[in-house]
Amino acid sequence: MTDRIPFLRPSLVPSQSYFGLLQRIDSTHLYSNYGPLCTEFEARVIAEAYDGAGSLCTVNNATIGLVLAIQQSRRPGRYAVMPSFTFAATPLAAQWAGLDPYFVDVDPETWCLDPIKLQEALDHLGEEIAVVVPYATFGTGLDLKFYAELHRSSVPVVVDAAASFGTQVDGEWYGKGFPGFVVFSFHATKAFGIGEGGAVYSADTVALQRLRRAGNFGFGADRASCDQGLNSKISEYTAAIALATWEAYPEKVSRRRAIHDSYETELAALNLGEVGWQTQKVRGAVPFQFMPLLSPEGVLNRQVVDRLSDLGVECRTYFSPACHQQPQFSGCPHAGLEVTESLSRRILSLPLWEGMTSAHVERILRGITG
Ligand SMILES: *Cc1c(COP(=O)(O)O)cnc(C)c1O
Repeated sequence: MTDRIPFLRPSLVPSQSYFGLLQRIDSTHLYSNYGPLCTEFEARVIAEAYDGAGSLCTVNNATIGLVLAIQQSRRPGRYAVMPSFTFAATPLAAQWAGLDPYFVDVDPETWCLDPIKLQEALDHLGEEIAVVVPYATFGTGLDLKFYAELHRSSVPVVVDAAASFGTQVDGEWYGKGFPGFVVFSFHATKAFGIGEGGAVYSADTVALQRLRRAGNFGFGADRASCDQGLNSKISEYTAAIALATWEAYPEKVSRRRAIHDSYETELAALNLGEVGWQTQKVRGAVPFQFMPLLSPEGVLNRQVVDRLSDLGVECRTYFSPACHQQPQFSGCPHAGLEVTESLSRRILSLPLWEGMTSAHVERILRGITG
């Protein structure tokens, strides 16, 4: 049998690429608490990606980043309005921040919150909404114009941009200038994978400073806790990997985009669009984490996953079950979720990793049609 194609095979930067940074830790004896490597990483991202606009705070993972961002920006009210078509971390973070998730449907093409249905929820729930948490689905450059306006005028917005670190829209790094919090994940399975980690960006440097303090036990100047803080700091070892990954990232991103391009080419060559297979309508240049594909109406993703598995291809079905279909969130209130439920029956996550070739892509897509 030909080799198995795993769903993901993360390739983090090799240890020799940050060995010199580890030796710096040995000599400084600084291991955490926003040490020199952490500070250097945050400063480089702001200077090189955001042209000096706003600030960035590293966090030990995006879930904790979301908890902090929601807790720090929420207004009174009980609901965190969000899509159900997201990773469980989004509603879990709202629950840890003391809120009830309220699920709203997504757009059938972008797979992000449907703006019209969101407006209906805003009108319907009004003051009961504490925060809105849109998800930039699978790394897309979700348009933040409406959300920036909403954040400034009435309802705080936290963007779950877990897979969007490196996404560029019109040549600008994703989130630049956004007045609320934008949360990125650096988990090993994300494009900017460093093991465990993440970062929160905001153009509002004062708010970001508050979030940083909350992530260090809420300690004020005299080391007295003055907020319901927690510990969200990364170690200097993690920061060393982040700095080495920053150097390697342009190369990694172009590799990922090239594999995505082979998928697009092969999908067209096999005329899969004409028989109802559908790709996500994305905005901007995305550092794809995997290859999402929607099966035609009437073709269940489970059947495709099984067929591919028999052919030695490992796939997933993110995000199926959708959040409202999971026991932890089954009691959460929601608006109509017809599109989410349709996506949940048909969504496939196909392999995409840096060592893949176009021959792999061909084998996967040929397998799909059976
Ligand atoms: C990966 C992911 C998270 C969680 O990130 P961690 O760094 O693993 O905590 C949150 N939301 C979404 C949409 C994700 O894809």
